This record gives sequence, C-alpha cells and structure tokens, in this order.
Amino acid sequence: MLLRGLADDGGLFVPEHLPLLDSEAWKSLSGLPYAELAARVMALFAGDSFSLGELTSLAEKAYRRFRHAAVAPLIQLDERLWLLELFHGPSLAFKDLALQFLGQLFDAVLARRAEHVTVVGATSGDTGAAAIAACRDKAAIDLFIFYPLGRISEVQRRQMTTVESENVHAIAIEGSFDDCQDLVKGLFADSALRERLGLAAINSINWARIAAQVVYYLWAGLALGAPGRPLSFSVPTGNFGNVYAGHLARRMGLSVARLVIGTNKNDILARYLETGRMEIETVSPSLSPAMDIQVPSNFERLLFELLGCEGAAVAAAMLAFRQRRALPGNRAAWHAAQGLFRAKKVDDDETLATIGRIHARSGVLVDPHTAVAIAAGESALAANGERVPMIALASAHPAKFPEAVERATGIRPAVPPALGDLFERRERTLVLPNDLASVRSLIESRARRSAKAA
Ligand SMILES: *Cc1c(COP(=O)(O)O)cnc(C)c1O
Repeated sequence: MLLRGLADDGGLFVPEHLPLLDSEAWKSLSGLPYAELAARVMALFAGDSFSLGELTSLAEKAYRRFRHAAVAPLIQLDERLWLLELFHGPSLAFKDLALQFLGQLFDAVLARRAEHVTVVGATSGDTGAAAIAACRDKAAIDLFIFYPLGRISEVQRRQMTTVESENVHAIAIEGSFDDCQDLVKGLFADSALRERLGLAAINSINWARIAAQVVYYLWAGLALGAPGRPLSFSVPTGNFGNVYAGHLARRMGLSVARLVIGTNKNDILARYLETGRMEIETVSPSLSPAMDIQVPSNFERLLFELLGCEGAAVAAAMLAFRQRRALPGNRAAWHAAQGLFRAKKVDDDETLATIGRIHARSGVLVDPHTAVAIAAGESALAANGERVPMIALASAHPAKFPEAVERATGIRPAVPPALGDLFERRERTLVLPNDLASVRSLIESRARRSAKAA
C-alpha cells in the first residue's frame, strides 16, 4: 500500500483504525527531535512493515537535509499568532516534509524486495520539485512528473528541469493541472502497464504522505503545551491533504480548538461549508498557484467519515461529483463538516495586503500561500475572541514566489544559498500534448524497469 495510489475499486486508502495517543504516549513523544517524533508517529501507522529502529534511521536521513536545525521551526508573530515554517527542505515548500521521508521509505522497501518502481505524478508546481528532490539518483526508482506548460512559476519549473539525474523526467503537458492529474489516473487505470512498469503514486492521494504530515501538527502542539493546552491551526488549502492531516492529528488526541481552511479565489471548500453545496467551477489563476484547484482530491477521505464509513456511499457520491460537477447534497454530512472546519476565502488583494502588513508589523516576509493562511487565521481569531494560540502553516519560502512578495513589500526575497545557481543551470525541457498514448509511449521508452513482476 505504501507504493500504491488508488485501491482496486478506484477509491483512496484510509486506515481501518486510527491510533489514539494516551497520556503515556504523549509523554514519550514530548521533547523529541523532529526526526525521532516522525519515526514514532509513522510507527503507529506502519504495522509490522518497519521497525522503530529502521524508521528512526530513515527519518534521520530524510530530515538531515533540511536547512534549519529544528526542521520545522515555530515563530511567534504576535501575542496569539504563530507561524509554523514548513519550507526549510530542499524544494522550499512544505511537501518536502512528507516526500523526503516517503522517498526513504520507498527506497528501503524496494531494496528489501529487490524491486524497481516507476513513480508517476502530476504537479501544480511544488509536488514535482519535492518529489524530484526525494527520488533523484535512487537506483530503484524512475520518476515521471507532469506539469501544466506555462502555468507554474519559473523557480518551480527550474527546480524540476535543471536536475541532472538520469532517473528524473519532468514533462510539460499542453494542458491544465487537472489534465495532468487525469493523465496519471489514465496510466494507473491501465492494469497491464501498471504491472509492467510497477507504477507507484506520489501525489497526496498516497496515504503514507498524509501520515507523515500528521507529524508537524503534533510537533507544533507539543511545542506549545499539548496535550493539555488547546490550539488552533490555519492551513493554506488546495487538494485538502495538509488540512486533512490536521484533522487526523485531532482525531488522534491533539486538542484542536479550530481548524481553519484558507483558500484563494478557487474557494470550493469555503462555498461548501457556507452553503452545503460542493460545485466545481473553472480554475482561475491566483497569486497562490499551488491552491488553484477545484477538485480537492483528499476530501474523499473526509467524506468517508462524514458518510458513516460506508465505502459504497462514498463511491456513488464521488462518481456523481465527477459526472455532474456537483456533490449530491447531504445535510447531515454538511453540518458535521461545519462542526469540524471553518473556512475563509482570501482573494489576491487581501493576500498582498497581508504580506505587506506582516512585514511592516514583524519584519517577516511570507509567501502568498502562507499569507492566505495568516489572513484566514486572523479572521477566525477576531470572530471568536479566543485566547487559544493560532498556528498558521507557512507552506512555501517567500523566495519561491518573489514577484508577489516584491509587489507587496518592495523587497525581493533572497534565494537561500543552496539554490543560488538555479538561474544559471541548464534546463532540460520536454513538452508533450495532452494525450495519454504519447505519455504512455514516452514512459515505456525511458523507464528502466525490467519485466519483473510487481
Ligand atoms: C501544495 C501546496 C498547498 C496546498 O496543500 P494541499 O495539501 O494540496 O491542500 C499550499 N501551499 C503550497 C506552497 C503548496 O505547495
């Protein structure tokens, strides 16, 4: 299951039982370095496929490459507002927290089984760079990443196209992110191809990735007094993977007062919580492109819970959602969702104003995705008048989106030294039409996997 995206019925995996942290468990987690915490949390989900010792050494390898000694430092912005910085990994976005660990887990499993896999993934910009950073030069993995031609930032593109590794293929598709996601689904749907190439998934539909994201919620909680003290989180949300991990942390016993969904103008989740109707609209480009998504694929996992863990009901609802571009209405599920989350839409003007305000007030530069989370979190604080700490998740380094930051503050954020020559490196670009047959034949010609069984 580690290597697989979709289950045989086309749905997503969820664990049968969620581990619950009792007071002993909390005690054993308190004060650990990030990598050790990650290993212990992953051990709760890993069954007997990895020992704690093995997980610890893999987590140490994964998080050693982060540029901050704390891995995910917590910065206080004002009396109640905190920033959890999740951008100190190699690709400068929060996806490294899960994918660096996942790359190590993949590698360990493959070495054990003497197997080789072909990882395919679609990216709206950041997943691709993080997946490449996690899988490059791994002998047992070939990686194919599809991104929408012309619709990602230059930093994002260069992070993918300048990597000189034989096993990495970044491919521009003449289409949108949703087209890229459909191509990946199309590849997985071909069971002969899946077997022959040993296809594996790296998008947030991969369960292990969600589990690795639970870690930093617990980490921030432990730093600010969990389990005794309640906390709130505000999360910049696109595919619903990150905020869903926060929901799982809460179900595992973290005391969460509010879980706030920050969205840009692609606000399908905010509209749903307000009206009970989840309706797909056309994707509209914003200053926070990693959140320009209309089909939040991890919502399916929450839906499973909202519909009483009835797999068949979820499958029927998801089918209707795709065919009619609207989820069938369900009052009970909607009210339950309203009890779990609140959401706020933050448009581009408010995003820029927030970047400017935070910089003027605390001297901190934040990227547009992070600004959405901050604005949504501040509005929840104002509405509730609570004295609970609000932790906004900082999902990307400001240097990844320099134009917006410069427009808001007049300052162009410096690129961290590790990426210093990104703009001088040679790019290898490959463009394909939005066509499954072309994509399939490219993968078949470049994948190194032999005819070994998966
Ligand atoms: C992927 C991404 C998001 C959205 O996260 P989801 O898990 O898809 O909700 C937000 N910000 C940045 C910078 C990202 O790369």
